[in-house]
Amino acid sequence: MTVPKTWRRIPELYNLQGTKCKSCSALFFPGREVCVKCGSISLEPYRFQGKGRVVTFTIIRSQISDPEGENIDIPAREIPYVLAIVELAEGPMLTCQIVDTPEKDVFIGKQVDMVFRKIVEKGKRGVIQYGYKFR
Ligand SMILES: [Zn+2]
Repeated sequence: MTVPKTWRRIPELYNLQGTKCKSCSALFFPGREVCVKCGSISLEPYRFQGKGRVVTFTIIRSQISDPEGENIDIPAREIPYVLAIVELAEGPMLTCQIVDTPEKDVFIGKQVDMVFRKIVEKGKRGVIQYGYKFR
């Protein structure tokens, strides 16, 4: 993803911030401007606790090239790594890398916590992007 896009997403990336519908209390991550449950446009920022459980996961054994630079780029030194769908304690699901956990210890239903980690580093003096991962 590009730098301006990252800046716009800082609350989301750094604080696991999504939105909560003021009408029906539905929670969204990433945040939405319109509630898909009741159609309300009255939503407020909502910060998730960062606790969740693994719904499903896969082991990535080769580098995914991303010419557009839009998606998460995992450095070669971190391969293989675990990519999981995590259901937050509050309900929404997200896709993320699982870190600090040997792949044999990852299982469906495993409880995980958010950690704040470097996601992408471009070049020696390049841009370093940080964001959420789970462990
Ligand atoms: Zn709603």
